[in-house]
Amino acid sequence: MKTLVDQFGRRIEYLRISVTDRCNFRCLYCMPSEGLEWLPKHDILSYEEIAAIVGQLAPLGLRRVRITGGEPTIRPQLERLITMVRAVAGIEDIALSTNGVKLEAMADTLRAAGLDRINMSADSLRPERIAAIARRSIPFDPVGAALAAQRAGLDPIKINVVVMRGINDDELEDFARLTLQHAWHVRFIELMPVGDLRSLTWEHVVPSDEVLARIAPLGTLRPATAPRRGNGPARYYRFDGAAGTIGLITPMTHTYCDTCNRVRLTADGRLRTCLFGDHEVNLRDPLRRGEDLVPLYVQALAEKPREHALLQMKVGGLRALSEVGG
Ligand code: SAM
Ligand code: SF4
Repeated sequence: MKTLVDQFGRRIEYLRISVTDRCNFRCLYCMPSEGLEWLPKHDILSYEEIAAIVGQLAPLGLRRVRITGGEPTIRPQLERLITMVRAVAGIEDIALSTNGVKLEAMADTLRAAGLDRINMSADSLRPERIAAIARRSIPFDPVGAALAAQRAGLDPIKINVVVMRGINDDELEDFARLTLQHAWHVRFIELMPVGDLRSLTWEHVVPSDEVLARIAPLGTLRPATAPRRGNGPARYYRFDGAAGTIGLITPMTHTYCDTCNRVRLTADGRLRTCLFGDHEVNLRDPLRRGEDLVPLYVQALAEKPREHALLQMKVGGLRALSEVGG
């Protein structure tokens, strides 16, 4: 079995696939409220093209796939893609990142197609605040969505909370309390002030150590092992007697670059080897011309940077995560 190893010895086995740049939300930290231009349909990879790319990477050691966006559940018939990726020999794990709005309606269908697990974004548990952060009023209950995903058999259920000082940090305890009763993994993410986010600055970043201190009144927190599958860059804790765990994801105060095992595929078919960097290789056009993509993967990995520049605060020109499949 061949493996994809980059120039720093990191084994690449995880691909994040953005299936659309569009979204039914406009989260404060992710997209401008208005005036976005979407990729033309023809530029976006078809499900067949995405499955073909996964099929070529699997023999090179790709094992895990995450479907993301934009909001992946707004692309029609997402279950078709999941069925196709599930059929690729060697793929062991398929995860979905979603804002959860369509989960109650879609969880059973996605699970039946072969989806293993979800990461759901939820930045508030209060309806009016959800609408204020998402800047769209779509009725949506994050707890109901997570319960629907759990009933459908998706496991583990991870809930990602981007913590913003003065905006939702008064809900830290409410989110943490969910783990006492539910076997969910609530992960607090440090805000990354990237892209063109005029309303958010470094002042809104709440360091994860502060998050830990602020949820401490709920009980005794002890370090915990990561959830069974897909242990990405998070530190985990559990309150004594709790069903679920608390995770901390700290892009602003730590880097994970030395253990980075992932690459990204943008909706228009570019392979990006680092979330924060300009390096990308166009796979779509060679694929459409029927060319062999393997030399392009090998070249892309040879150029995967050792680490990103986020901590050096070179964030001005970085693309928002919705564009690169955060
Ligand atoms: N729409 C899906 C969702 O919201 O989960 C998938 C795409 S979204 C870009 C992926 C993740 O990136 C979400 O968990 C979101 O909270 C996170 N994200 C986006 N912009 C961010 C930022 N500036 N700082 C921290 N996390 C961010
Ligand atoms: Fe949409 Fe997800 Fe970005 Fe929010 S974080 S605007 S839900 S892509």
